[in-house]
Amino acid sequence: MFTQKLKAQLQETIREVKDYPRSGILFRDITPLINHPVLFSRLIDTLKLRYQHHSIDFVVGIEARGFILGAALAYALGVGFVPIRKKGKLPFKTISAQYQLEYGSDSVEMHTDAFREIKDAHVLLIDDLIATGGTALASLELLARLQAKCLEACFLINLQELGGLDKMAEKVNTFSVLEYPC
Ligand code: AMP
Repeated sequence: MFTQKLKAQLQETIREVKDYPRSGILFRDITPLINHPVLFSRLIDTLKLRYQHHSIDFVVGIEARGFILGAALAYALGVGFVPIRKKGKLPFKTISAQYQLEYGSDSVEMHTDAFREIKDAHVLLIDDLIATGGTALASLELLARLQAKCLEACFLINLQELGGLDKMAEKVNTFSVLEYPC
């Protein structure tokens, strides 16, 4: 369980970087959390306790920091890990879903055989942070197209004023560890 004490420790460890990657963005940098010998494992162990009885077949992580959390959690749960990558990064047959950016659009992709031979795979979707929700909603579309059932979408950080988690919650169970103002 994420106690108030643990949440405060996690929050204190996440660094805020102003104007990165461009002016006006307050970037939430989790590198001081994932290089912490105690807090990173506390985070993963606590997520494991939340999901260990959910009958999850795969943890699906969104590029790039979702890979770090997702792969560690998949290992802890003893299940496989599946990456959702930005356009053009996966080598085999892919499906793709577009989402809007402030200017233009981007897309995310998955391998068509990501869930091996498992039909209606039960998956947990994970990323470090949800802001507008564009990336996570497109990821959810990919999961649906591969007939996977998303049991929950999990985020370490929710930038709640941007409303992405609320949009996700209309479609799927959601969980966020830390709530942040923008
Ligand atoms: P969005 O699609 O708007 O929900 O953006 C979520 C994705 O962008 C996640 O993969 C995050 O890692 C990244 N991201 C967006 N805003 C921030 C931020 N302020 N700090 C760190 N990462 C961010």
